[in-house]
Amino acid sequence: VKIEWDGETLTVTIPVSPRDPEPIVLTFRPHHKYRRLLDEWKAGRARMGEPTLTAHSLSIPLKFPDPIPYEPEGVIGIDSNEGNLTAFVTSTGEIREIDTGYVGKVNRDHLRREIKGTRGKHNPKAKKKIASKHRMIRREKTENFWHHLALALIAWALGMKAALVLEDLKGMKERIGKGKSRRMRQRLLNFWSIMTFHRILVHKARFYGVPVIWVDPQNTSRACPVCGRVVDRLRGHALACPCGVRMGRHEAAAVNIARRGVEFLEGSGLRGRGRWATPVAGPLASG
Ligand SMILES: [Zn+2]
Repeated sequence: VKIEWDGETLTVTIPVSPRDPEPIVLTFRPHHKYRRLLDEWKAGRARMGEPTLTAHSLSIPLKFPDPIPYEPEGVIGIDSNEGNLTAFVTSTGEIREIDTGYVGKVNRDHLRREIKGTRGKHNPKAKKKIASKHRMIRREKTENFWHHLALALIAWALGMKAALVLEDLKGMKERIGKGKSRRMRQRLLNFWSIMTFHRILVHKARFYGVPVIWVDPQNTSRACPVCGRVVDRLRGHALACPCGVRMGRHEAAAVNIARRGVEFLEGSGLRGRGRWATPVAGPLASG
């Protein structure tokens, strides 16, 4: 398929094939908001993907290069749970908790509706249809929520030129499977939801040029943020260290995640403790 753009008319030429002895030439006059993008493409500032032609539409994917991430002047450590996110900002010492209970609620609601909707139905095809409908709504609602939350965090990071630091959950599933701590097992339940959020956040961060760092998730909520000791048992939701520090475990995790991000940036972290989730250019690239 050949695409030509002269600033007014988009010409799509479909070459000769066994079915079409003559090339098919289609012309389009795109809406002005698409014209600007086509101008950018023509000027060489975007790459074109494979166009998709249907009976009623033409879709052309255009890929614009992502901005180069800035050099971070601090980090925001993010402890991700299904019910909430806790963020710690190194430059101000601020701790912020964000309620994400909506996601769990949507998941539960739609599961309930799915069960109710398929009750008494014996036709497996009809059952499948109802189930897939609910899955789709559920997915759309939760992804939309994560999407907006990701944008808010990115705006926050951009405002203070901070890097976002997330726990690297890759490989986490296997580790939880081997019967690790309760927190680890609990996290498996929320694993997919949090993975979705991280995927959306990193994708958007790339788009806005916000650097993101993955760090080792080991013991983030059990290590004392002051003396570094790993505390075996948590008192309820609090970490109580023999050194006298008492802190909520989510807050402790956010502080520890942020610290690992800072260590990674300073190059003082243990080997393999961190890696870039977003591309970096220049002196940062060797990180
Ligand atoms: Zn301590």
